[in-house]
Amino acid sequence: MPELPEVETVKRTLSPHLMGQKFTEIKIYHPAVIAYPDAAAFVKILTGRPVRSLDRRGKYLIFNLDENLDEAYCLVGHLRMTGRLILAGDAVPLAPHTHVVFSLDNGVYLHWVDVRRFGRLYLAREEEIMAVTGMAKLGPEPLGMSVEALAAICAGRRRPLKQLLLDQHLLAGIGNIYADEILFEAGLHPGREAGSLNRMEIERLQKAVQQVLRQAIANQGTTFRDYVDGSGRPGKNQEYLKAYGRTGKPCSRCGQLLERVILGGRSTHFCPGCQK
Ligand SMILES: [Zn+2]
Repeated sequence: MPELPEVETVKRTLSPHLMGQKFTEIKIYHPAVIAYPDAAAFVKILTGRPVRSLDRRGKYLIFNLDENLDEAYCLVGHLRMTGRLILAGDAVPLAPHTHVVFSLDNGVYLHWVDVRRFGRLYLAREEEIMAVTGMAKLGPEPLGMSVEALAAICAGRRRPLKQLLLDQHLLAGIGNIYADEILFEAGLHPGREAGSLNRMEIERLQKAVQQVLRQAIANQGTTFRDYVDGSGRPGKNQEYLKAYGRTGKPCSRCGQLLERVILGGRSTHFCPGCQK
């Protein structure tokens, strides 16, 4: 599932091709992926609107539209499990599971492809888009977050660290892969009560959040099966993972074999030697 580094990479790879371009035509092959408004209104409102800039919030990709800010709309995509947004030189041929094709006035096409069909697209006025998408309920962005801000999130919480990191209402953008990598990097047990961390441990956690997410962005994201960037290229970060998916392999720090447990319903990878 695309997490913060993957969505950030999609944003960066799409930006140079879409900025300043107008949507000239939108073809919807599977209307259920349009979460808001309905498919007909989506096409009617979006046609002719230019892309002002691209943004990301948590795992949401945001297209800021229109030059006139007084009546600006936002197009927002959430890739969920297997969603892909890929640039193409043509509207056809369609890859299997292509649900929407956007045409832009520079001759570029943007294909929304999604095997599992959980991904969703939203279109609304800028002042409505936070409520319409659920972005209004997101916690702060973890990139650039201070030690103090992270300490405030952990304070008094009895929840295990793994679940805290995954809670989009507390921190936006971290999913299962990076939660495991962050806790490995910080040397903290995933089941540890968040509120029990001392100052030094919070500092380690803050540093690990920055390091793991920045490294993943530098490596254009992690690809196991489905994820590709806006140009259709897979990421490279899977070659650098130290905990996620490495059950039974020796820890790169202490040599003990990595273990896998289920925590809060999610598969969790950690080192019993250096994550106490
Ligand atoms: Zn270890």
